[in-house]
Amino acid sequence: MSAQPRPRRVVVAGGGSAGWMAAAAIARTMGRTVSVTLVESDAIGTIGVGESTIPPLITFNRLLGINEATFMRATQATFKLGILFDDWKEKGSRYFHSFGLTGTDHWSAGFQHFWLHGRTRGHDAPYDDYCLELAAAMQSRFAHLPGDAVNYAYQLDSTLYARFLREMAEGDGATRIEGRIARVDLDGERGDIAALVLEDGTRVEGDLFLDCTGFRALLIEGALHAGFDNWTHWLPCDAAIAVQTPNVRAPVPYTRAMAHDAGWQWRIPLQHRTGNGIVYCSRYLSQDAALERLLGNVEGEPLTKPNVIRFTTGARRRQWHRNCVAIGLSGGFMEPLESTSLHLIQRAIIRLIRLFPHGEISARDVAEFNDQQMTDMEQIRDFLILHYKVTERGDSAFWRFCRDMAVPETLSHKIELFRETGRVFRRNEELFAENSWVQVMMGQGITPRSYHPIAAKLRDDELDKMLTGLRDTVAHSVDSMPEHAAYVARYCGAARPAAA
Ligand code: FAD
Repeated sequence: MSAQPRPRRVVVAGGGSAGWMAAAAIARTMGRTVSVTLVESDAIGTIGVGESTIPPLITFNRLLGINEATFMRATQATFKLGILFDDWKEKGSRYFHSFGLTGTDHWSAGFQHFWLHGRTRGHDAPYDDYCLELAAAMQSRFAHLPGDAVNYAYQLDSTLYARFLREMAEGDGATRIEGRIARVDLDGERGDIAALVLEDGTRVEGDLFLDCTGFRALLIEGALHAGFDNWTHWLPCDAAIAVQTPNVRAPVPYTRAMAHDAGWQWRIPLQHRTGNGIVYCSRYLSQDAALERLLGNVEGEPLTKPNVIRFTTGARRRQWHRNCVAIGLSGGFMEPLESTSLHLIQRAIIRLIRLFPHGEISARDVAEFNDQQMTDMEQIRDFLILHYKVTERGDSAFWRFCRDMAVPETLSHKIELFRETGRVFRRNEELFAENSWVQVMMGQGITPRSYHPIAAKLRDDELDKMLTGLRDTVAHSVDSMPEHAAYVARYCGAARPAAA
């Protein structure tokens, strides 16, 4: 049997966050063994949103040897400690999903069990008081603490992020070709992708193709018909309008997600401006009404024209198919509520590098990749559905639909287990850990009916010492932190960009 040539020519189609994250990571980690060519079209441009992130991005940056302050300066980034949810459980309600731990866990039971027991013994402090990141966010404070004691992510300008990564990737030898892909040529015999053909006739041949063409999914769907699982019956929002505004106050270290009667609105403060957007379900709200609602609920005069985006929630059935891997929006999109898309991109890239073909592409590698990627997506999907399903809102047709919809069995099990026992289990390296589920489930209105008996084994004085001690530690640590905006200015203050 003759050995197949190693897939040495990696061709990245598309230069949004997905394309440049992939090109930068592969060029940096595998640049000696593969060539990386990226094709993008300035005329088409990128989606221009994707500004709120979650903590694993720190790991991605470290893996690539990116200096944090340099990266934050280049992307006008601020720190993010979590998301503040307004009006989700009911109008007027508010809760915070922080990136931190709340309290301290026992091997047998999460902190919520001890907190629930405390409530029966006269401790009425909110669950929130035991979380450093949450308390710091609410006071708009931030600092790096020794031992990586603060869990955080970033709020960044996605266009500047792609530019930053491009510089890095090109520095590591990646080649960029500007042009519109007009056609995808398949190898007649195998059915693999042989080349991208640009409008000017240029052929870009490769061994492994990364489809980073966004919602267009030109390669994975357009050429290879990998299929799509539609999840709109669980995640019904299908449109968004984004607009940027000036900062009218010092940027806070958290993203806001404000529910309205047919979806929700985001507010993401960066160093130089604020990103805003409304996400809605077009069955229940027209585009004109959504725009009016968005503009009526931003602070300051818009700096940009509204960017209208339509989408279908769901996942590409085969994320890796033949010699093509879908990364980014081409692989699916669930909605931006928990800022998970850049994370899925990062997971796909790292997964691809770990399973990178040695010679001929192995069907087992492909199956493993697809299985792992789909597991990630389904777990995130369930977490997102939770926000819509568990609500006391019934004030609009949209919320009544969400409240009454059937949800995946995996999610109903999780909800009912928590409702009955206060327990949450994390499976298969799930992204969202126990405390994320607890914060959102309690925030959306579930109070467990019971808790682990081990919590009741503590004597009252032991329980008192534990709870008071934890709260005091949080309060003292937050007191020692500087104001977030001042810390950002000192640590990574960016010059104002020349023009928007
Ligand atoms: P795109 O940015 O659309 O890039 C596609 C690329 O393909 C472009 O360079 C384009 O020019 C190129 N291309 C397409 N067709 C052709 C062609 N024919 N020829 C040549 N080039 C072509 N994610 C988060 O993590 N956090 C968030 O807060 C967040 N908010 C979001 C809000 C909304 C409303 C939406 C829709 C998404 C959000 N996301 C968020 C997701 C995030 O924006 C994307 O995951 C991320 O930007 C990656 O997009 P992409 O690179 O896959 O696609």
